[in-house]
Amino acid sequence: ENAPLSLSDLCREVLAMFSDRAISKGISLNFDEAKLPKFKINSDRARIRQVLVNLVGNAVKFTSRGSVNISGAYVETINQQVRISIFVTDTGVGISQSVARRLFKPFIQGDNSNTRKFGGTGLGLALSKKLGVALGGDVNLLHGEENFGCVFQFDFLAARCPGVDVHERERNHFDDVSQ
Ligand code: ADP
Repeated sequence: ENAPLSLSDLCREVLAMFSDRAISKGISLNFDEAKLPKFKINSDRARIRQVLVNLVGNAVKFTSRGSVNISGAYVETINQQVRISIFVTDTGVGISQSVARRLFKPFIQGDNSNTRKFGGTGLGLALSKKLGVALGGDVNLLHGEENFGCVFQFDFLAARCPGVDVHERERNHFDDVSQ
């Protein structure tokens, strides 16, 4: 699919899905949208959502105190194409070096007792990586240390939607009012 979407709205929607679980675990969910595009992008909403649900779902699952954060950044490239990175950071159990090496292989879980303790299939990250690559980017573990949480990075390419961005709209509105 290639349709207009607001990335900020989508991130908020994904976080909202996990708010009850986060409240019951006593962890906070935060969203820093400052560096995300203020304009809409043309992309595959369902696939981006699927990757975010997996990353945020894992982050909430493997965090018992502290927080889970989504933040983002984008770099505009030529021809209205933008490269976007979304970071999902948590303060949970973290990931050891040996698990990190196998993380994106199908049916792999960090610990043999994981299925019993946390459920899951060991497929989420393998699928997320395939979707990230299909969207012209990738999904990687940016930082992971046992007991010190982790940071996953989801990159993809998208097209900038024609039209004014939020800042532009606010500026125009201000100009109108001040005239
Ligand atoms: P699962 O369905 O088991 O969660 P995934 O492919 O999504 O499958 O994750 C594979 C394994 O990677 C998990 O079982 C867990 O050991 C590890 N993992 C993924 N995300 C995190 C995280 N945020 N913190 C700690 N470990 C994680």
